[in-house]
Amino acid sequence: MTSVSTVLETEEHTALRAAVAALGRRYGRDYLTRVVREGTHPDALWADAAKLGYLGVNLPEEYGGGGGGIAELSLVLEELGAAGCPLLMMVVSPAICGTVIARFGTEEQKRRWLPGLADGSRTMAFGITEPDAGSNSHRITTTARRDPATGDWLLTGRKVFISGVDIADATLIVGRTEDARTGRLKPCLFIVDRDAPGFTRRPIEMELKAAEKQFELVLDDVRLPADALVGDEDAGLLQLFAGLNPERIMTAAFSLGMGRYALARAVEYAKERAVWKTPIGAHQAIAHPLAQCHVDLELAGLMTRKAARLYDAGDDVAAGEAANMAKLAAADACVRAVDQAVHTLGGNGLTAEYGLASLIVASRVARIAPVSREMILNYVSHQTLGLPKSY
Ligand SMILES: Cc1cc2nc3c(=O)[nH]c(=O)nc-3n(C[C@H](O)[C@H](O)[C@H](O)COP(=O)(O)OP(=O)(O)OC[C@H]3O[C@@H](n4cnc5c(N)ncnc54)[C@H](O)[C@@H]3O)c2cc1C
Repeated sequence: MTSVSTVLETEEHTALRAAVAALGRRYGRDYLTRVVREGTHPDALWADAAKLGYLGVNLPEEYGGGGGGIAELSLVLEELGAAGCPLLMMVVSPAICGTVIARFGTEEQKRRWLPGLADGSRTMAFGITEPDAGSNSHRITTTARRDPATGDWLLTGRKVFISGVDIADATLIVGRTEDARTGRLKPCLFIVDRDAPGFTRRPIEMELKAAEKQFELVLDDVRLPADALVGDEDAGLLQLFAGLNPERIMTAAFSLGMGRYALARAVEYAKERAVWKTPIGAHQAIAHPLAQCHVDLELAGLMTRKAARLYDAGDDVAAGEAANMAKLAAADACVRAVDQAVHTLGGNGLTAEYGLASLIVASRVARIAPVSREMILNYVSHQTLGLPKSY
């Protein structure tokens, strides 16, 4: 199946899509299924994607990246997903953490982290969600205070659902400074090494079948050097959204990839499977929903590209709105495509051999994370339409 709306992309993007798709085909769904079954990680695919420059395509060239933007990075994730082997850590490591460090880090932080994030030899997880705050990030209580004697930071708090902490060299933790405990969120971002004393993790048992695990984190007076703080203590939400908008665009790309993968399997099946005189794909009850899924994925793809373009052009405000809408549209299109694909395969839709049923759970992730569809509808109601708030 042709990729989504390539006609609106540059020749370079089309070529990049084709190259990534070729890598994806070399690995495919079977590879990821095996990795998940064995409880390992997609290290070989990660290394190959890194070698080809795909993982750091958005990072600055002077730090080993490709000098592109989120447009290119999201396209890489989408194509790997369409081949059945998405790399979830791309959403957090190069997209959020790489972007935040590239935009707000000190020279020393950039030199220490960006080359490794770009060549895939190092990864960074991202932790904002807290058990008692959930969607309301203004309520996060992970608190940083300064040790006046040394200038170190001491970080205390809890996080939940943080992906990939076990494999990441460090986690970019969103906290708040002590004097900002009340009132609106004044977030600050800290790089916490995986083995920092006082930083503990517990895996959360998920129904999701994925290589990347989710963790509950406890930070118990974790002592961090002064330069663990990324960016300005007072720059607040601006810095945070520099990372969250790419996260939303990447989540949209993740959904587009998975939706395309599921739809392609359903179309293949519907062309072959015949239980009456014609293949089941000749019945409009099968064909039309699949056609509608394709339309929905195309439309969501357009919004995703718009969001990426706005973000790469430096228009953070317009990118924020577009990234939210893209994430909502792509997640919904993906959920519908997976559901329809499973249905198209009948009983085979639920077999391990065809491997589509596990996508029912996986496709729901993007409806919830990193921001739920209700919170996006809230955002559009208030910010775009100017409607009053209920909460
Ligand atoms: C697989 C997975 C991976 C994740 N990885 C990460 C990660 O790496 N890093 C990280 O920081 N977080 C991560 N998360 C967390 C994710 O971002 C949160 O689950 C998400 O932000 C929602 O928070 P919550 O689960 O606390 O839901 P809640 O905030 O409790 O919301 C529950 C329900 O209530 C609805 N709701 C809440 N408030 C309102 C309102 N005002 N109006 C209407 N409806 C509302 C929500 O839409 C949702 O349907 C991950 C989650 C999952 C499932």
